[in-house]
Amino acid sequence: MINIALFGPPGAGKGTQSSFLIEKYDLFYISTGDLLRKELAEETKLGLEAKSIIAAGKLVSDEIIVQILEKTIKENPQASGFLFDGFPRTYIQAYILEGLMIKLDSSLNCLISIEVPEDVSVARLLNRGLTSGRLDDNELVIRSRLKEYEEKTLPVLNYYKEKGNYVSIDGNKEIEEVTTQIEEIINKELNKKLMNVVIFGYPGCGRGSQGVELSKRYGLEYISTGRMLEEEIEQGTDLGKRITEIYENGELVPDEIVVPLILQKIKNSKTVKGFIFKGFPRTLVQSYILDGILKKHNSSICKIIDIQVSTLELISRLSERSKTSHCKPYDSSTEKIVRRLKDHENKTIPVLDKYKEIHDVAIVNGEAPFEIVFERMAFEIEKGFKNLR
Ligand code: AMP
Repeated sequence: MINIALFGPPGAGKGTQSSFLIEKYDLFYISTGDLLRKELAEETKLGLEAKSIIAAGKLVSDEIIVQILEKTIKENPQASGFLFDGFPRTYIQAYILEGLMIKLDSSLNCLISIEVPEDVSVARLLNRGLTSGRLDDNELVIRSRLKEYEEKTLPVLNYYKEKGNYVSIDGNKEIEEVTTQIEEIINKELNKKLMNVVIFGYPGCGRGSQGVELSKRYGLEYISTGRMLEEEIEQGTDLGKRITEIYENGELVPDEIVVPLILQKIKNSKTVKGFIFKGFPRTLVQSYILDGILKKHNSSICKIIDIQVSTLELISRLSERSKTSHCKPYDSSTEKIVRRLKDHENKTIPVLDKYKEIHDVAIVNGEAPFEIVFERMAFEIEKGFKNLR
């Protein structure tokens, strides 16, 4: 989900630019001015309350603004991102926007301020007034709207400057040039969004080999906790020695060891487009940990894929593997394999059930040649990328 606010004085071109942006980025458009004019045209209670204030070029009350925003957002739960025009218009409304975003479990990516000199604003609005039919597009009211803007709306910029998600552009240019400037900013924001994928499936379903290849195709970092623990052992680090001891005692590696390894890996992966997690989260506790880790990076899980393979096929694949150099200690007999599959079921299925309640878990049939399963997974990841936008 990407959320953008267009900011600027009346006549800056917010409405004009919005019409291009909503289509290109599939954003849901919220213009508080348009919403108010609709209420006015329908002569609703809210519209009647706002009428004289709008006609005088003053700002309507925050109560009215919150009511129309709540209504619009509630009526459009499928929106994959919002473009705000004419909101927030006061310092207080900046806080209101934060609250709305929390409710949507999202945040405002950036506020783009379209800057134009006052005489340009006035000339554009007078020109628009010739055809708009708007009761506030006449010189007297235009001056009042600009005064409101100077006094009440401009201070909003400080809020976003302090937050660090404010960008300004030159609006005194041809329409196409202004659009290009805005698109560059939005594209940059989109590139900042991380695509985080969690791959589920029983041991032997192909999670690891598919995960590695998918991470290469999509510029994602592959995070396999099992692999990271093995690396520590192979490198003979102090941690590796501790992990060996834990393995030898038949115990589970505690989260206190696994989590710092994940954090380090994420810290070292500054330029990636996202992460593919394999083997983590393995327990309900770890599912909460992963949510927390991603939240800290202003991110979340975007795609969950469950690779499904029948138990018979899994046993056959793992037995085959045990005859190769990839043999894992727990694959060495059918009895051990069955125990491991059962153990996996007990721990991981509750995690998957939890995710099914809050995410759309994609089921991929893993019983096909590698390339075919790969394309099935790639299809799901590309869908995830689209939803990011
Ligand atoms: P606009 O179409 O954005 O120029 O808005 C037209 C008029 O609607 C403004 O002059 C205000 O009276 C009112 N209005 C629009 N948005 C807001 C807002 N966020 N807060 C207060 N008043 C608003």
